[in-house]
Amino acid sequence: MKKKMHFNSRVIHGGQKLDESFGAVMPPIYQTSTYAQTTPGGHKGYEYSRTHNPTRTALENALASIESGKHGLAFGSGLAAMDAVLKLLKPGDEIIATHDLYGGSYRLFTKIFEIFDLKFHFVDLQNINEIESKVNKKTKLIWVETPTNPMMNIVDIQAVSNISQSNSILLAVDNTFASPYLQNPLLLGADIVMHSATKYIAGHSDVILGALIVNSDDLEERLRFIQNASGAVPGPMDCFLTLRGIKTLAVRMERHCYNGKKIAEFLNKSPLIEKVYWPGLIDHPNHLIAKKQMNDFGGMISFIPKGSNYENAIKIIENLKIFTLAESLGGVESLSGHPASMTHASIPKKIREKSGVLDSLIRLSVGIEDSQDLIDDIEQAVNH
Ligand SMILES: *Cc1c(COP(=O)(O)O)cnc(C)c1O
Repeated sequence: MKKKMHFNSRVIHGGQKLDESFGAVMPPIYQTSTYAQTTPGGHKGYEYSRTHNPTRTALENALASIESGKHGLAFGSGLAAMDAVLKLLKPGDEIIATHDLYGGSYRLFTKIFEIFDLKFHFVDLQNINEIESKVNKKTKLIWVETPTNPMMNIVDIQAVSNISQSNSILLAVDNTFASPYLQNPLLLGADIVMHSATKYIAGHSDVILGALIVNSDDLEERLRFIQNASGAVPGPMDCFLTLRGIKTLAVRMERHCYNGKKIAEFLNKSPLIEKVYWPGLIDHPNHLIAKKQMNDFGGMISFIPKGSNYENAIKIIENLKIFTLAESLGGVESLSGHPASMTHASIPKKIREKSGVLDSLIRLSVGIEDSQDLIDDIEQAVNH
């Protein structure tokens, strides 16, 4: 067997081959909807671009390679990728999902798929007994997100996969927050990895794209069928941009992690800060699990300023100059966010506060700028 390349090389070469026409080093953007046939069925492997497109194929092969999986599938958005996974199920099936889920995922589950009679149980996936108490014959899928947004809770993927495998339940992991650089759920027993490639994978805040990666040929065939039949596919230009982003994923993540550590440590020592949520800190409640299943700790950090309330938190966010206030995460530029009024505004205050999303909580997506500039920016914003 050919020796598997290291991650740093796979992001650049994984699943790629040189263009056969002119030796283009980057796969061309095949901006075409259809492909000429010499006789019905006489084509070169491509018939219609909803079904497949060479630029998308190049991206899908790269996605499989960086997640250490066999098959990659690209979708028009992260939510479109999730939508395809849920279409593997049928009315009456039950799903166990993490209670502190990405808001858009929660909306897809409860506002779209509950109508089709799928039943969702939202539980704390850190609590194995709670998961087991919800498993029955109708349970067909466990949906994990780790680290979670914005509290940075860590779910032990291997522990959950012990339950899913012994009960023949599919285990899907939303790996958006970690990226394939930090964590590869398929190697920890997951069946499906999902990404909002919009975030770290593409990495430049310029494209919306989703991905699924699986090992099973049967799952691939079923998901490929749904991808073509439902048709939520990305265009060739977006595939190209994502592929281009993947080339620098390793070097970007290295800097996201470096800057994340610098900022988390700065916040942790600052007398003006009450609480810091970053899995790399040794007093983070899930630090040991994070250390076991992740290669590093990433650039997503949440924190609460001392004696802060809604007004102070908003003022600090407004005072930030390098951190831009915006939805999304994982791009090269640093962003700030206020979960209580932005990503988590649709969750009732009482429920939101129970999981720690207070009005005073600030979330940072630490970019790849100079760490000292970022620290200076936070310092002036908090001191203002
Ligand atoms: C953004 C995000 C999604 C949704 O992805 P889109 O590309 O915006 O559709 C799903 N899960 C997580 C954790 C996300 O951050």
